[in-house]
Amino acid sequence: MDKIYVTRTFMPPLEEYETYLEKIWQSRQLTNQGPLLVELEEKLQSYLQVENLHFVTNGTLALQVAMQALDINQGDIITTPFSYVATTSSILWERCRPLFVDIDPETLCIDADKIEAAVTSDTKAIMAVHVFGNPCDVEKIEVIAKKHSLKVIYDAAHAFGVEYKGKSLLSYGDISTCSFHATKLFHTIEGGAVIAKEKNVSDRIELIKRFGHDADNHSMLGINAKASEFQAAMGLCNLKHIDDIIQERKRVFETYGSLLSSKIKTLTIPPQVKYNYGYYPAVMENEQQLLATIHDLNSSNIFPRRYFYPSLNELPYISDKFSCPISEKISRSIMCLPMYGDLADEDIRKICEIVNHNAK
Ligand SMILES: *Cc1c(COP(=O)(O)O)cnc(C)c1O
Repeated sequence: MDKIYVTRTFMPPLEEYETYLEKIWQSRQLTNQGPLLVELEEKLQSYLQVENLHFVTNGTLALQVAMQALDINQGDIITTPFSYVATTSSILWERCRPLFVDIDPETLCIDADKIEAAVTSDTKAIMAVHVFGNPCDVEKIEVIAKKHSLKVIYDAAHAFGVEYKGKSLLSYGDISTCSFHATKLFHTIEGGAVIAKEKNVSDRIELIKRFGHDADNHSMLGINAKASEFQAAMGLCNLKHIDDIIQERKRVFETYGSLLSSKIKTLTIPPQVKYNYGYYPAVMENEQQLLATIHDLNSSNIFPRRYFYPSLNELPYISDKFSCPISEKISRSIMCLPMYGDLADEDIRKICEIVNHNAK
């Protein structure tokens, strides 16, 4: 039996990619805001219903460019301990201090009710994550940010195509960032996006992502976050299939939902959310039960991921102590089950049997 991993990268028909390769061979422009990149940025803005979108090299640089564009390069940033390490590492890389606030056990996102108590005189921003594509409490976060003059950055790496109250989730906050890594729902091999609410912030991103200069006019510190035409070509191919990809994942999501025991806690998608079916997290009773389940799945050639583990406040290079008991407990007992469009019903049944057996 073939190995089943937590995700399986979507590959568009090879001929479709070749058509774009021919265009690249003709233009001889491989990078630096080439025609395919411009086309992808336009198509993404229209698909996602957002403006001021910049396609960049990856989702981590997207976060760093976002911080620089909002002039955040020192001070404290309130953030979530339950995310991929890049959320925290980009804060540290920009020489800021992460202040971890515990999560809501239902949404797995930062608990907005606990944010205010964490604000210090040195707090510059809130960097929150729409975990597994489930929206943060964007309204409450906006109120707190206004009251304390904080910037808001959403790491929306999981939120491609998600809508909240009929509006793109990516339109909330001062900036939202995406990851288009090969393991994500929509991918460009490596890639990401920075989406700014304000035009003046968008103009700063435009400069920052290409070394901070326009011809000989060097107006600010920048970096190289430019994506290539080859990445843009992959994005243009995949965007044509994205609605089918999401539709197929919906089938997988619903099949899990109908087969998994009610003892397994998973995502509850609120009715005002149009979800993208990006992930299928399963929270077990405790770490021991989780490890036993993973062991049994592995024996059947099925490889879920402990996602996210560890709770980021417990990273060895974080010296400050934070109390995040909910994130710590969930991190120790959660995994993401295999989730991709061509996962067969038969395989989902097998996975659910093993998981349910362990949950007894
Ligand atoms: C994948 C991911 C990132 C990093 O994106 P890359 O494109 O891999 O650099 C950041 N944050 C979250 C929540 C992610 O899942």
